[in-house]
Amino acid sequence: MPLPRGLPVVDHHCHLSPSGEGVDAARRFARAGGTHLFLTTQSYTPDPPRTLEDYRAQFETTERLAERVRGETGLGVFVVLAPYPIDLVAAVAAVGPSAAVDAHRAALDLAGRWVRERRAVALGEVGRAHFPVPPEVAPLIEETFRYAFAVAHDADCPIVVHSADLDPTGFRELAARARESGVEPGRVVKHFARSRVPASETDGVVPSYLAKRELVRQVEHDPGPWFLETDFLDDPRRPGAVLDLATVPRRAEAIAAAGTGAEERLSVPFLRSVEQVYRVKLEGRGPTAP
Ligand SMILES: [Zn+2]
Repeated sequence: MPLPRGLPVVDHHCHLSPSGEGVDAARRFARAGGTHLFLTTQSYTPDPPRTLEDYRAQFETTERLAERVRGETGLGVFVVLAPYPIDLVAAVAAVGPSAAVDAHRAALDLAGRWVRERRAVALGEVGRAHFPVPPEVAPLIEETFRYAFAVAHDADCPIVVHSADLDPTGFRELAARARESGVEPGRVVKHFARSRVPASETDGVVPSYLAKRELVRQVEHDPGPWFLETDFLDDPRRPGAVLDLATVPRRAEAIAAAGTGAEERLSVPFLRSVEQVYRVKLEGRGPTAP
């Protein structure tokens, strides 16, 4: 059974790189049936950014990639921007804690401004390291994570969180952090979720599940909101580090093949969750599109 006409097919979290496959990877996604990508910024240089100007150049690269993908593939692309929390490890070592934190906060402010200017739809990835970091850096990561929530509150936008995999306690803690800053938990996305947490146990925080076959089977009947993502890295030096960009459309096709109720189920991650969390309307591929 083909993908239902008019239904968007959305990868909620991927990266593209000017030195990787770039637009070609997006073309593969489109050919497989994908319609929209959430394109998250990343460091494109061997050394992570240290200054606000480094971050501005990085964000501009992401924006140019998004424009090229839109122009050359017709896909919808939503830009998600923030300084990556783990950048602080290298930045503190290079320029010291105070300059590193200043640049990080200024980059969060810049991302918030781009959201208000509608050049981006959310802050991300922000959060915590998924591995032990030097003891002098850990509190700085916490401090800037808190600041990211304040910026998301001011920009009135969703916030996409990077962290280790979370259990219900972790979700509740994240929801509490959001409320402290006046951010609704329903606008907080836990990206790269690798275990199913039912909606009744996330305290309102929205999981974006890695689109592995087994995990998709476990979550596809959940009422939502939830997303699917590949976290595609577009890094030729790390093939297979994450899922390929064609994965979400393939999983969607497998769900569609099940027939009864498939369209309803697919509308949860691809339509209703996007509208609810990002407050944007998506359109799927029309009957005359390729
Ligand atoms: Zn990512």
